[in-house]
Amino acid sequence: MTIITRFAPSPTGYIHIGNARPALANWLYAKKHNGKFIFRLDDTDVERSKQIYTDAIHRDLAWFGIKPDVYFKQSDRLAFYEAAAEKLKQSGVLYPCFESAEELEKRRGLRIARKQLRAYGREALKLTKDEIADLMAKGNKPHWRFLLPNFKSDPFKPERTEIQWDDLVRGRETVDLCSLSDPVVLREDGTWLYNITSVIDDIDSGVTHVIRGEDHVTNTGAQIAMFMALGAKVPVFAHMNLLTTLTGEGLSKRTGALSIGSLADDGYEAAAVASLAILTGTSDAVEAQLDLESLGKIFDLSHVSKSAAKFDPAEVLILNKQLVHKMDYAYVKPRLDAMGIVGDKAEAFWMAVRGNIEKVKEATDWWQIVTVAKADDETLSDEDTHFVRAAFEQLPVDFHDIPVWKVWTDAVKKATGRTGRNLFMPLRIALTGRSHGPELANLLPLIGREETLARRP
Ligand code: GLU
Repeated sequence: MTIITRFAPSPTGYIHIGNARPALANWLYAKKHNGKFIFRLDDTDVERSKQIYTDAIHRDLAWFGIKPDVYFKQSDRLAFYEAAAEKLKQSGVLYPCFESAEELEKRRGLRIARKQLRAYGREALKLTKDEIADLMAKGNKPHWRFLLPNFKSDPFKPERTEIQWDDLVRGRETVDLCSLSDPVVLREDGTWLYNITSVIDDIDSGVTHVIRGEDHVTNTGAQIAMFMALGAKVPVFAHMNLLTTLTGEGLSKRTGALSIGSLADDGYEAAAVASLAILTGTSDAVEAQLDLESLGKIFDLSHVSKSAAKFDPAEVLILNKQLVHKMDYAYVKPRLDAMGIVGDKAEAFWMAVRGNIEKVKEATDWWQIVTVAKADDETLSDEDTHFVRAAFEQLPVDFHDIPVWKVWTDAVKKATGRTGRNLFMPLRIALTGRSHGPELANLLPLIGREETLARRP
């Protein structure tokens, strides 16, 4: 059996690190099992779905290195939903309802006050064929509900009906259909709602594994009933815990917080973001993996914890740093080339600076410092200026084949008596214009003798 997974976002906002979690989980799971990954856009909500979000999601998946085997959008499949719904209407599983939102709300309030079941009372199911025809003739447009199979023979006497599945994350999971209202699947205005379109698409595209957030657990109960009503095989489900901030707040697509696009624009590594999105809330250590392949080796749905996956947004930077520190030159070369960091010195330069930067883009500043001019973040005191001038008298003539920094500073020590920070810091500032940075032993040969002399204060 070929494993088929899917990521099915709605293009109603920019996807964030929490949405990246199911995207990556589905991709990694499919790749791990030589399966297929479908990217489906759940865009039946015409009002809220926007092309800019669709474009952004495509960009974000590509940024992670996710290459869907199949791509489609629900707005292209309306005829299939019609056809499937027609079957369900024929068998009486979809039924028309004419209540307004206010009416439903009022009834719900009454049920709560009377401590009755909170679920919809199926009043519309009592309408006769003639009444329905009459309402329609008067121009009333129905919305349609799916009749949940939570009764023996009388739908007005719902009883406890357990839908169970073996969730790959949560273990044996149960939803009682009696606690749910018959879901609305088609609105008055003819737009389809997620629950049923998702099931029809999952059936038609042969999805074998549905991996998504635990906010869908209840939906799964209703959806399994829909799979069965449509005579289809029920896929395997895995509901992952949701990423929340340390204070337990969820992430919102609407605020744009931690959106994948903004992280990419800020120079974060896709692999660092992916590692955080996937490993948070699991029994695995949250450590940056170099690429999706190595992340896939660790990723295991059974390691995902059942409680919330809390994370500190600051961790993105920590993981990014970890990753940058271990990137070898070949890995980063195409990007350094694009940044103009090229030539004989480029590799030694990268190896010198990678341990001192948090993002690859910061290499540009250091390249400028090494090859063009020092920064002007720090200036020398008069006393240190004198010291540095004296130190320059000791600068080795030959920079080749010697540990030039050591030779130089040994000589300076001898000549001036200065040691430790008093010796190194003024030289660092004179050479780089900064008080922190990569080892001068590595930078000095890259700056070269001529340029070093040009930095004599
Ligand atoms: N469009 C749904 C969402 O974004 C898809 C959920 C699912 O994976 O079934 O929540």
